[in-house]
Amino acid sequence: MRWKSGKTGMGDGGVPWVDPHVHILPPRRMRGLVRWVKGFTPGFPISEDITREEILSDLRGSEIPFFFNLVFPLWEEETADLNRFNRDLCAGIEEAIPFGSLHIETPDKEKEARRCLEEYGFLGMKLHPFAQRFPAFVPEMRPLFEVLDEQGKPLLVHTGFDDFYGMYMDLEAMEKTIRDYPRMQVVAVHSLFPRFELAHKLLGEYPNFWLDMTNTISCMRMYEELRSGREDLPPLASSLEVEEVERNHGYFYRLFEDYPERIMYGTDFPVGFGYHPALLEDLRFFSFPRGVEENLLYGTVCRLVSLCGGPDLAARLPQGAG
Ligand SMILES: [Zn+2]
Repeated sequence: MRWKSGKTGMGDGGVPWVDPHVHILPPRRMRGLVRWVKGFTPGFPISEDITREEILSDLRGSEIPFFFNLVFPLWEEETADLNRFNRDLCAGIEEAIPFGSLHIETPDKEKEARRCLEEYGFLGMKLHPFAQRFPAFVPEMRPLFEVLDEQGKPLLVHTGFDDFYGMYMDLEAMEKTIRDYPRMQVVAVHSLFPRFELAHKLLGEYPNFWLDMTNTISCMRMYEELRSGREDLPPLASSLEVEEVERNHGYFYRLFEDYPERIMYGTDFPVGFGYHPALLEDLRFFSFPRGVEENLLYGTVCRLVSLCGGPDLAARLPQGAG
């Protein structure tokens, strides 16, 4: 039942869910992404030919009122096309909030960033240094950071799951960037999994630092079940960095006690750990207080969007929320 859309709580006093992490990509890239996931998740039930209409209909079936649509170029040559694709796609989807991206080889990063933010009206930019295969926090990327800082816009950046990707991020360089560009809102996608002690410290020190719990919630549920002796775990459980999770275990829970107002919960839909109802169940496994859940499911995203000059999403959510 992980792979079926259905009610996630909108209406009847439920909590709406604004998803800050969705991938509707051009068909060729969608195929590549799904094929890649199938490589490490045998039996992954999403078709390589899934269409934008199908993804959208699943999101609507799961009552997702708004979502961030994230793209990222694998090589410089597709950068401009991909950003244009996201502009055109999201222009026709009321719920979609598009983000742009660029490549380390993009010759004029300031120009591409300004095109995305000023001409296309994107809320912010996203980088996936592991998939894009370049480090994010290096001097070459400063022109991007400068534009985001000048305009107070968000940078969504993949962090964590180093063992799984077999890659490594320079976390000191990341911290220095957060410090050097205090108006740029840095969202650590996947919350540095599983370096939650560091995530907790950075939330304490930098008000422009945020977390997105995409996949992290499901992995921590898996970890807790592993701990309590459940056996039918998905194959992915083997790359959980169990010792590092163990070391950071207490800090995972402290994040939600101390900084729920800067933590959001996205999904990687349609290539994450399931459809929204199952991923909501993963969140509810932890029995967080209602206030924490409201922050994770919509409060934090709404706050980030309006802080960054985007629309007042909270006002457009169903009655009772916001
Ligand atoms: Zn993603």
